[in-house]
Amino acid sequence: MILGSQCTRNCRFCNVTSGSPLSVDPDEPMRVAKAAFDLKLKYVVVTSVTRDDLEDGGAFHFAATIKAIKNTLPDDPKVEVLIPDFKGNFKALEIVVSANPDVLNHNIETVPSLYPIARPEANYQQSLDLLQNVNTINASMQVKSGIMVGLGETMEELEQTMTDLFVHGCNIITIGQYLQPTRNHLEVEKYYSPDKFKELENKARRIGFKKVAAGPFVRSSYNAQDLFTG
Ligand code: SF4
Repeated sequence: MILGSQCTRNCRFCNVTSGSPLSVDPDEPMRVAKAAFDLKLKYVVVTSVTRDDLEDGGAFHFAATIKAIKNTLPDDPKVEVLIPDFKGNFKALEIVVSANPDVLNHNIETVPSLYPIARPEANYQQSLDLLQNVNTINASMQVKSGIMVGLGETMEELEQTMTDLFVHGCNIITIGQYLQPTRNHLEVEKYYSPDKFKELENKARRIGFKKVAAGPFVRSSYNAQDLFTG
């Protein structure tokens, strides 16, 4: 996770600390690349806190990190970035996409009716537009998103959100169970059984997704390399 440990937002499901972030560390991209090199990684997932305090939302830093990894690791390493919404800033998205990550991931997280309680500082349509804009910039880029279930959504809402993602150009999807990080976070409204996850996976495949990971422990970077190559 780059760009520090303090997020400028405060999503009600997330245990990342909210507060005033520190200034951006220009050496971080190379340090991340060095760590990936030392770990002999072939597939690197890079994410960040949301940095609404920065004009570019941290896009240049993402791009620098992608380039540092690709230039440092041997044998054509793959990089997946899990990006914030950049407040819908097309230029910021363009900076990241132009650095040529192999997968561009942005989590929609939940259905639109739950945005006011789960992601009050985000906007469902803005996130869909961001995902759609990836292929406007680079038509061949793999676009990925993820949904948490168990916050109180209905099956019909989930099906609609999966459809929305697909029609906005998303071709890889992860679906996992929400778990409450602390008592101060949103409560779990429902635990989905493995059969329900199978039903969701089947629905996603019927909608058109070829690459689906759905299960209680699935998170957005779950088996990311297998999902990318599968
Ligand atoms: S923007 Fe991302 S990191 Fe920040 S609180 Fe929300 S989910 Fe967590």
